[in-house]
Amino acid sequence: MKTQDEAIKYLNSLVGKGWDWDGYYGWQCFDLANFYWYYVTGRTLAGMGAADIPYQNNFTGYATLYKNTPSFLALPGDLVVFPNTYGGGWGHVAVVKSATLNQITVVEQNWLGYGAVKKEVATVRTHSYDTGMHFIRPHYAKSTSVVKKVTSVVKPKTTVTKKKFVLVAGHGYNDPGAVGNGTNERDFIRKNIIDNVAKYLRSAGHTVTLYDKKQDMYQDTAYGYNRGDTKNYGLYWVKNKLKPDAVIEFHLDSAGASASGGHVIKNAYAADSIDKGIQKALEDTVGTIRGITTRNDLLNVNVAYNQNINYRLVELGFITSKKDMDYIKKNLQAFTKRIAEGIHGKPIGGTPAGKSKKIRWDWKGRFTPNTKIKVRKSPGLKGVIVDKGSWLKDKSDWVDFVSVTKKDGYWWIKFKYPTNPKAGYFYCAVCKITDKNEKIKNEKYWGKIKWK
Ligand SMILES: [Zn+2]
Repeated sequence: MKTQDEAIKYLNSLVGKGWDWDGYYGWQCFDLANFYWYYVTGRTLAGMGAADIPYQNNFTGYATLYKNTPSFLALPGDLVVFPNTYGGGWGHVAVVKSATLNQITVVEQNWLGYGAVKKEVATVRTHSYDTGMHFIRPHYAKSTSVVKKVTSVVKPKTTVTKKKFVLVAGHGYNDPGAVGNGTNERDFIRKNIIDNVAKYLRSAGHTVTLYDKKQDMYQDTAYGYNRGDTKNYGLYWVKNKLKPDAVIEFHLDSAGASASGGHVIKNAYAADSIDKGIQKALEDTVGTIRGITTRNDLLNVNVAYNQNINYRLVELGFITSKKDMDYIKKNLQAFTKRIAEGIHGKPIGGTPAGKSKKIRWDWKGRFTPNTKIKVRKSPGLKGVIVDKGSWLKDKSDWVDFVSVTKKDGYWWIKFKYPTNPKAGYFYCAVCKITDKNEKIKNEKYWGKIKWK
């Protein structure tokens, strides 16, 4: 992914020339969009016509699709897709260069219809918003000055994007929500769920704010909504004051005693990685009663839709189910951790073995042994040992190596036999790991290393 600055710079560089991505029909609007999208995201856009773009591409994980609303503000670098009321039924696509709440200024091709005959180059033009528009916003890379430092350090790279989450416990004030199994939604979630989920998210590096437990976000939002105040109450306030990347509101369902399992409730925007992550977490723990469900009859869900707030309501299970409640109580830490991992997008605390811990470095040198050393077909004590005649024995058996690997308490080098390079790469240990910082250059080798 490119940074937003890089994206805009590239976009500006397209103006004044004609762009043909696929070699068909000259300089179409879609061609320009593909050049831009490929540069910024490394991906191409699918669709017969521009109007298909929002429906025939999965943007999960690298871009966010927004349906236009009266309060939507496009940002420079957004892809804007015009519906099929444009372009003779094919729709139209352009890239936003700048925008206000009333109009967008874009870079586009073939607005006037002269692209196919290569008479209309990429042009800057201003349009009004249209209710049928979609906007697609790349998840840009952070600016390069931040990224630069990481690459020079021999450590696992931090690829986690730190986010700002707001967690909300459902119900509040005089509304206890659903009641069952000796507790109610309001109290149980406040006491057991949100602090724990917050704890795990924070341990993964995110910023987490809890909506005030003494309040009820639903009633607060309704208060603002009824007064026409879309700034100062409930979810409106969350958006304006906390500016979160995502809001997660927790509830417990209620029905007959046999109903069991949780699910995620969303507005009409496509489910994103957070929705899917939480749904999967529920599947893996308390179980689910249904898939991610779109609803338009819940106040906070609708306000989130109108205000472009990344929001979902999570039913953690049924408060009326003894099975669900026993499960959650008995596994509270594992359960809330798993929910946090669903939000975070990967396991929290402890990297999965061998996955991201670096054990190999591409350091080169010449190793000259001073003792007999076994040679293996792969690094580590489990590597198959080659025929005794091919082991290293003394200083006449020097080898040039191309990498070093830390494994099973030894440092291993990867080399070819200078006398038989065609046989490919082999491995041998050059020392035991004794240095407390486990740095190979602090060790005593079974011979001599000359680093290159
Ligand atoms: Zn509820």
